[in-house]
Amino acid sequence: MNNPIETDIIIIGAGPTGLFTVFEAGLLKLRCHLIDYLPQTGGQLTEIYPKKPIYDIPGFPEVLAGELVDNLMKQIEPFKPGFTLGERTETVEKMENGRFKVTTHKGTVHIAPVIAIAGGLGCFEPRKPPIENIGDYEERGVEYIIKEPELYRNKRIVIAGGGDSALDWTIYLAQLASEIIIIHRRKGFRGALDSVEKVEKLAESGRIKLVTEAQVAGLGGEGKLQWVEIEQTGEENYRLEADHFIPLFGLSPKLGPIGDWGLDIDRSAVEVNTFDYSTNVPGIFAIGDINTYPGKLKLILCGFHEATLMVQSAFKIIHPEKKVQFKYTTVNGVEGF
Ligand SMILES: Cc1cc2nc3c(=O)[nH]c(=O)nc-3n(C[C@H](O)[C@H](O)[C@H](O)COP(=O)(O)OP(=O)(O)OC[C@H]3O[C@@H](n4cnc5c(N)ncnc54)[C@H](O)[C@@H]3O)c2cc1C
Repeated sequence: MNNPIETDIIIIGAGPTGLFTVFEAGLLKLRCHLIDYLPQTGGQLTEIYPKKPIYDIPGFPEVLAGELVDNLMKQIEPFKPGFTLGERTETVEKMENGRFKVTTHKGTVHIAPVIAIAGGLGCFEPRKPPIENIGDYEERGVEYIIKEPELYRNKRIVIAGGGDSALDWTIYLAQLASEIIIIHRRKGFRGALDSVEKVEKLAESGRIKLVTEAQVAGLGGEGKLQWVEIEQTGEENYRLEADHFIPLFGLSPKLGPIGDWGLDIDRSAVEVNTFDYSTNVPGIFAIGDINTYPGKLKLILCGFHEATLMVQSAFKIIHPEKKVQFKYTTVNGVEGF
């Protein structure tokens, strides 16, 4: 085992529920490490609706989803949580000493006596275009999520898609890449008007190339991607040289590996005891959108409440010899590590 990450609570999912768990655990002097498949924190709020106002967070008459995530990140700073981002939690094993070993798809190992699953709707999986050999080029020139923009500096890039993600990344990468071609099935784009205008201006200035009523039908190259084949209305199929092909057709949530950890599952959600949101496996809790119980509502504030109760039981598992000291923050303040 290569240098495992050891902590008190491993939190699977860095959405609002997972982030707030760090705060409530921190008040009890418990350390946390968050794992998320997405390259950034915030879960659905960052991935699906960062610019939408939310109206039902207590004390905030209105707050943008992205701002709420920024505030949560600030609120947990004193407790110095660890992060493993861009990695999907794949396996959970109970070790002989009673602790859990949690391993990601990239082989990063985490060890803790308690796991909090805050996995929301599950892992967001990219919608992949139906190109026969696309699997051969994944991580060899084909990427569905842009994790590290620097990878594209001075590279020839083909982006496919017509929504906000395709437009926003085209605008951003136009500063870095040596060549960008954006391929879209229809004539018009679906994204925000402002982004559409920016992309059209970049095309007019020759900085990028727009190919509409077209799609990528094939990929080729020796050991890594070297060209894409374009199928365009009214044209013979043709090849374009490319170092990277980035299809941005959106992400859809799937329960994923969470379904294989021996937990009681009901309709893609983890069944819990509402006393403390514990699952049928002692030491594993499930909070936020991922759990189900009579009367469950998939709301951010419910996730916050569940996290608050859950850490009380987590404390008893981690420190069976100690009593939980319940104190108001107005009395004790927020003492970080
Ligand atoms: C358009 C829209 C508007 C909404 N508006 C509101 C609103 O106004 N008010 C409100 O209260 N709620 C609203 N919601 C619902 C709210 O976003 C959810 O209740 C909230 O995001 C749940 O938080 P969470 O932390 O439980 O899960 P999520 O935000 O879904 O985060 C879960 C995280 O877990 C990660 N994950 C899952 N499985 C794994 C794994 N195996 N390994 C690693 N990582 C994993 C995922 O990548 C994800 O980042 C809205 C939702 C949508 C889609």
